[in-house]
Amino acid sequence: MSNPFAQQTAIPGIKKIILVGSGKGGVGKSTVAANLALALKEAGQKVGLLDADIYGPSIPRMFGALHQRPTFTDEGGRTRIQPLVRHGLLLMSMGFIVEENQAVVWRGPMLFKAVDQFLRDVIWGELDYLVVDLPPGTGDVVLTLAQKVPVSGGIVVCTPQNLALVDAKKAVDMFKQVHIPLLGVIENMSYFQPPGGSDRVQLFPRGELNSFLDTNKIAKLGEIPFETAIGLSSEAGIPIVAAEPDGSTAGVFAEVARRMMDLLPNH
Ligand code: ADP
Repeated sequence: MSNPFAQQTAIPGIKKIILVGSGKGGVGKSTVAANLALALKEAGQKVGLLDADIYGPSIPRMFGALHQRPTFTDEGGRTRIQPLVRHGLLLMSMGFIVEENQAVVWRGPMLFKAVDQFLRDVIWGELDYLVVDLPPGTGDVVLTLAQKVPVSGGIVVCTPQNLALVDAKKAVDMFKQVHIPLLGVIENMSYFQPPGGSDRVQLFPRGELNSFLDTNKIAKLGEIPFETAIGLSSEAGIPIVAAEPDGSTAGVFAEVARRMMDLLPNH
């Protein structure tokens, strides 16, 4: 059987592609992907954010870009797509093409084509990082990406409790199966620090995530606190790192971005 990964071709101009995944929805994968992309940009990198969560794209809303449409241009018979720009990030999402409440039923070949267009027909230009927000779960999109382009690394977003650990393990395994190096895990909603300096509150009970990571020599890239401002800023269409660039949460994301950059070669 031929090697399905032999078809990979790099996208000219894009140095590194990072995939952000999670075993299931609702753990904050899109929130983390968006703020990590912004933190990389704050660190002086040129960054694109591709919302490949085709089943539930949330990047348009998070960036206040609902109902926005990218510009399509004709380049010698080839349609090219000009991504949107927000806070210095290049953005592309299926949500810019289909309405928010319109369900899309994807068949394999359509999905393959959409992912291909997002990668090759979007005018990304020169990027240090293309951060890809994957759909939750362990589906077709990651396999398509892994087959089409060389991916520098995957990141798994999860929450601290044991109920979520089983899904985190599946996401870790997903990257392994498609031969994408795992950069590490980001624990979201790790704790809650009440205003006024009292003790941290463990909103979700801490389970065996840390020992799983230790045993398998997987790095924890960061612990993002639960913060009402994170949710509020996403609702308002300005992710927290852009809304409060000097705040403590932006500092946590800056640290995660720094660790990620250190882990990748040639940086
Ligand atoms: P996923 O992409 O995993 O489905 P989202 O990023 O859409 O998850 O986040 C789900 C909800 O949780 C959103 O309303 C988001 O604003 C909120 N959220 C995510 N992370 C945090 C956090 N650290 N603190 C507070 N709210 C958060």
